[in-house]
Amino acid sequence: MDLGLKGRVAIVAAASKGLGRAIAAELAKEGCEVAICARTTADVERAAQEIGAANGREIFWRALDVTDADGVREFVAAAEKKFGRIDICVTNTGGPPSKKFMEITLDEWRTAVNLVLLSSVYFAREVLPRMQRRRWGRLLTITSISVKQPIDGLMLSNSLRAGVTGMAKTLANEFGADGITVNNVCPGYTLTDRLTELFEKRAQDAGVAYDEILKQSTANVPIGRFARPEELAALVAFLASERASSINGTTIAVDGGSTKGLL
Ligand code: NAP
Repeated sequence: MDLGLKGRVAIVAAASKGLGRAIAAELAKEGCEVAICARTTADVERAAQEIGAANGREIFWRALDVTDADGVREFVAAAEKKFGRIDICVTNTGGPPSKKFMEITLDEWRTAVNLVLLSSVYFAREVLPRMQRRRWGRLLTITSISVKQPIDGLMLSNSLRAGVTGMAKTLANEFGADGITVNNVCPGYTLTDRLTELFEKRAQDAGVAYDEILKQSTANVPIGRFARPEELAALVAFLASERASSINGTTIAVDGGSTKGLL
């Protein structure tokens, strides 16, 4: 299927590693011009070079903390200057700490609001007017299956990712008539390098084989394994494409069926 992504310009936030990087790589493979950011200069530069080399194109990159509203404004403007426009924006960031309600200070709440909710607001405020002028756009938010089924102990994630989802749904209503779709993609456990290392450590600590730990951990996943980053990236590429023009305001899980709700 031709997704019609050739020549589209995509921003992918928090993309030096993990899901963001897989999304950036998939969009580059589909022929998009891609701009990525993350905080650690060496990592984001390396990711840009590797993705660029694999796809024969230049990946634009900046070292940027997505909680810096001015920095996001400058990054979006610089990506537009480089590639001429912004068609697609994927908001993403690192996860907030896992804590229970009474363990979280008010400062930690404010930090997490900035990280999870406001970072998406910063990108949306910059890219939507640009997309509106061209009457075409795709805004995608990456959250977590916690928006469908809250995860015990993840108070900050459960609370604030729901806010991102509410924002995305409301934006979908507000900007749909401008040719812009807004959708939310929510990963379940996905085997990024970070998660693989975590399970390797668990296996080492428990003195059992890595495969055994994975088998135990995936007992409740109907497909019998965790998703791979490129599987989530494939959905993002489809939602970003011309083919997905009528899919708007949805929240889709990539979790092998592990969420227990109906929708
Ligand atoms: P990851 O492998 O740890 O990668 C996180 C990426 O985000 C890195 O490139 C990191 O680079 C960047 N980043 C973190 N904080 C940032 C900030 N403030 N500003 C800019 N860039 C930032 O994480 P992941 O597994 O891909 O997860 C991505 C998101 O999906 C997270 O919010 C995570 O909680 C959520 N999620 C993941 C899973 C999973 O199983 N993987 C499941 C559900 C939800 P720097 O550190 O250099 O900035």
